[in-house]
Amino acid sequence: MALPGDCGRLTWRSWHAPPEEPTAKHMKDKDKRPRFSSLRQFSWSGSKDKGEDERLIESTVLEWYEQKHRKPSPEEIDFINSIPIRDCPHCRSRLFARHGKGANGIQRYMCLGCGRRFTPLTGTIFDSRKIPISEWIEFLLHLFEYHSLKTSANDNRNAETTGGYWLSKVFAVLRGIQRDVVLRGTVWADEKLFDAPNAAKERAKAKTGSSLSRGCQYYVATATDGDLAIFIVMGRSKPSDKSCMRTYGRHIAEGSALIHDGEPSHSSFIDALALRSDVHTSAETKGLRDSENPMDPINDIHDKMEKFMSAHPGYDRSRLQDWMNLFWFVWCTPGDKMDKVKAFLKLAISKRIRIKFRDVYGKKGGDS
Ligand SMILES: [Zn+2]
Repeated sequence: MALPGDCGRLTWRSWHAPPEEPTAKHMKDKDKRPRFSSLRQFSWSGSKDKGEDERLIESTVLEWYEQKHRKPSPEEIDFINSIPIRDCPHCRSRLFARHGKGANGIQRYMCLGCGRRFTPLTGTIFDSRKIPISEWIEFLLHLFEYHSLKTSANDNRNAETTGGYWLSKVFAVLRGIQRDVVLRGTVWADEKLFDAPNAAKERAKAKTGSSLSRGCQYYVATATDGDLAIFIVMGRSKPSDKSCMRTYGRHIAEGSALIHDGEPSHSSFIDALALRSDVHTSAETKGLRDSENPMDPINDIHDKMEKFMSAHPGYDRSRLQDWMNLFWFVWCTPGDKMDKVKAFLKLAISKRIRIKFRDVYGKKGGDS
C-alpha cells in the first residue's frame, strides 16, 4: 500500500487512475490553474495533419480513458433506479418527489422538507462516484477471494490508494455487523492469535532486552455454532475473565454446550451462561486427523482466517477488528462469492456512510 509520502508522486498508475473524488481544490494549484491538463488534450489536438506517432499516442490514451470512465451500463442504471427510497438523505424527511432524471438516466429526487436534491446513491459509499458500481463488483470479488489488494489493484488497473480507500468504505459498511450475533446449541470456541508486524516485535525485544516479544500478539475470540460465528478482537493481553465475558459472553445463548480447550478464563462465561463444558486440551487433540478432532470446526475457521490475513501482509493492526468483520462477512454470508457480492451491495445501499478520500489518506497511510 502506498505510504503517506507516496501520495503526491505521479506514477503512471496514479496518473492513469486518479483518486475517486478529486475535488476542484485538489486539482488546482495556488493560482487556481488546473494542476494537470485533461487526459484528452494533446498539443496537436487542433492539428489537421496529425503524424502516425501522434495518432498512436492519442488512441492509446483515449483507450485508457474510456476504460477508466466507463459509462454505467443500462443494467447498472436499472439497479440504481430500483433502490427503494425511504427518506431524504440530507434531513430524513419522508416527503420527497421524483425530480426528473440526470443525463446518465439516474432518477433524481427533490426533498419537500429541505428542498435539496438527491439520487438513490446519495449518502451511500457509492455516492460521488466517478467509477461505476460494476468496478466495485470486481473489487469485491477479489476481496472475497482472498486476493491481496495489490493483486486486485493490478487486475483492476486502479491506483493502490484507490483500493485502500475502497477498503475503508467496505470496513465502514461492515462495522457493527457482528453486534447481534448469538450462537446456540453446540458452540466451539478458541482464541486465534495474530502476530504484530516484525518491526514492532523487534522494538519490543530491544526494549525488554529479552528474546520474548511481550504484547506482540493479538488475541481474537473466535466461536461458531456451525452456522454463524463471532470473531472479536480481545486485545494484546492473554484472555482474562473480563475480556472473555466482553467477547464470548454476550454472543452465546444460555444453556448451550461449549466445546473448547479448557482455557481457565472461559469459566467466566461458562458459569454466567450455565453452559455445558466439554474440554479437549491441545495435548489431547494434537496429531489427530481433522475428521477425528473434536475441535475441527474452530480449527478449520482459524486456518481460513490465517489464509485470508496472509493475503494482506503488513495490514494495519489497529484495524484488525475491521478485517475480522470482513472475514466474518465472507465466512457467514451464505452462498458463493457472487451471492456475497449481492449481499454486500444490498447492505451497502441500505447504509448512509460518507468517507472522504482525504479522511483516509490525508493524515496516514492505509492497509496493504
Ligand atoms: Zn431533506
